[in-house]
Amino acid sequence: MLEVRDLHVHYGLSHALHGVTLGVGDGEVVGLFGRNGVGKTTLIKAIAGWLKPSRGVIQFGGKPLGGLQPDRICRLGIGLVPEDRRVFPGLTVEENLRLGFLQAPQRTKALMAARLASVYARFPRLAERRRHAGKSLSGGEQQMLAIARVLVGEPKLLLIDEPTEGLAPIVAEEIFALIASLRSEGISVLLVEQHLHRALDVCTRCYAMSRGQIVFEGGVAEPGERDALLAELAV
Ligand code: ATP
Repeated sequence: MLEVRDLHVHYGLSHALHGVTLGVGDGEVVGLFGRNGVGKTTLIKAIAGWLKPSRGVIQFGGKPLGGLQPDRICRLGIGLVPEDRRVFPGLTVEENLRLGFLQAPQRTKALMAARLASVYARFPRLAERRRHAGKSLSGGEQQMLAIARVLVGEPKLLLIDEPTEGLAPIVAEEIFALIASLRSEGISVLLVEQHLHRALDVCTRCYAMSRGQIVFEGGVAEPGERDALLAELAV
């Protein structure tokens, strides 16, 4: 589904990605791990079209994404849930969700009503708070809204950047349960996450990055047999 080959990204003279090669298959939840500053966010922003690579290939469903604007990439089916969530604070929950629908492949009033109903069924808390402003939501609710807003656009692949950062453990558990449910529905995910143990429970495969490069690629091993893997991933 997603294929990244030999990707290089620069910020001015600073070389942030040094030839990254990575893939996400249909229905896979792929973990992308590594310490702060190794280039995980840069990679997913480049996939979503927010950053222009200096070299390399990004293909989605066999089509090259090079040069496409973020909104076009989004309409092709790649939804980005950024680290800072970007919930519009002055808009209500429902208004935020309606903005997500602008990225749906087909847009009619009936389809929007159906998509909203399906998102509210998945996130009952957002349904309760549909008329509340984004800024009045808790951190966990804002994260749910950020994910829900992307789901309204019916993505085939979600890029989710550190969704549990700053959340209480019980709320983080809800996010991991949500990602597990996406996996069971066959929605592909590329997940950047610092909580390795829990992330591995929801992933099918994983990569580790160090200094702008992929330094490990492999399966997630069975729970209870992950010591060697965790050592590899703690790069
Ligand atoms: P974190 O977990 O802290 O988000 P990360 O692995 O996602 O880390 P990136 O945010 O992709 O890492 O950063 C990769 C490198 O690029 C770092 O050295 C960072 O300082 C640098 N960098 C990131 N954003 C910019 C920017 N806008 N301008 C210049 N350099 C940047």
